[in-house]
Amino acid sequence: MSDSNFLHELVGSMSQGAAGNPTVAMIEAAFAHHGLHWRYINMEVVPEDLAAAVRGAKAMGFRGFNCSLPHKVTVIPHLDGLGESAAAMGAVNCVVRRGDQLIGENTDGKGFLRSLQSLEDPRGKSVVLFGAGGAARAIAVELALAGTSKITVVNRSEARGAELASLLREKLGADAPLVVWNGDYSVPAGTDIVINGTSIGLYAPEARLALNLDSLRPGMVVADVVFNPVRTRLLADAAARGCRPLDGLGMLVNQGIVGVQYWTGIEPDAAVMRAALESAMGV
Ligand code: NDP
Repeated sequence: MSDSNFLHELVGSMSQGAAGNPTVAMIEAAFAHHGLHWRYINMEVVPEDLAAAVRGAKAMGFRGFNCSLPHKVTVIPHLDGLGESAAAMGAVNCVVRRGDQLIGENTDGKGFLRSLQSLEDPRGKSVVLFGAGGAARAIAVELALAGTSKITVVNRSEARGAELASLLREKLGADAPLVVWNGDYSVPAGTDIVINGTSIGLYAPEARLALNLDSLRPGMVVADVVFNPVRTRLLADAAARGCRPLDGLGMLVNQGIVGVQYWTGIEPDAAVMRAALESAMGV
């Protein structure tokens, strides 16, 4: 085997039913672009085999792995420790080998934060966040850790919304009121950043968020976690009112960037990764 073909390191993705995961192309494009002889592989792992799979990854010297549904919470007891935000939100999507330990991190919220910082630093800002599921939770925790002054959680289910708002208040000391979402919501004056953290709009270009568009003001950042379509109806409506739109593909690319940084220590080329992801997704 020539040196250029020599495989130095492995990382991967443990999930169930995620065949065709487009992030594989994005991560491998980064490895290739930076001359790293690494591979990122999809591993189909059923819940009953998760413990054995994590032990196997450790025994085989994997530098780490992503984990997605249904393993984001159940992987935690099999790890040696957690990063700050993963501990606060109680979910892991990225495992990193540090010394002989496997440490769980969460890069979803960090990816969102990096993407947001290309437009606006959230420190001291007032945010309205729709949703309280996994993505919204990850975003809210990172925003609180980044010094956001207020995070208003707007969610349809009161129980799920209250759980997130109390996590933000009690674990992170954030100012985090809850609004139960029924009917069109009007964004309060003084809001700097509005985020759709729900799945509304995913593969549904016409789907509408129950939001009074007249309450959006020019200059506000309006972000969407939904990445397919890339230009959601919310982002198009917000841009038409002079807001600054931020698409969900930026979050997805940046969570990949943070993962590559954790595993390899390099700062990967964002444009190369975004182009590979867009090509794999056909957008
Ligand atoms: P969850 O199932 O954990 O949460 C879904 C959220 O959407 C809940 O708050 C739910 O409210 C709300 N919701 C769904 N449908 C409606 C509706 N019709 N009306 C009001 N609220 C609704 O999903 P995730 O948080 O894991 O994922 C959410 C989205 O984020 C998905 O589209 C996913 O693809 C995207 N995502 C994007 C990433 C990126 O990198 N860009 C990364 C991760 C996720 P309720 O609590 O009331 O049910």
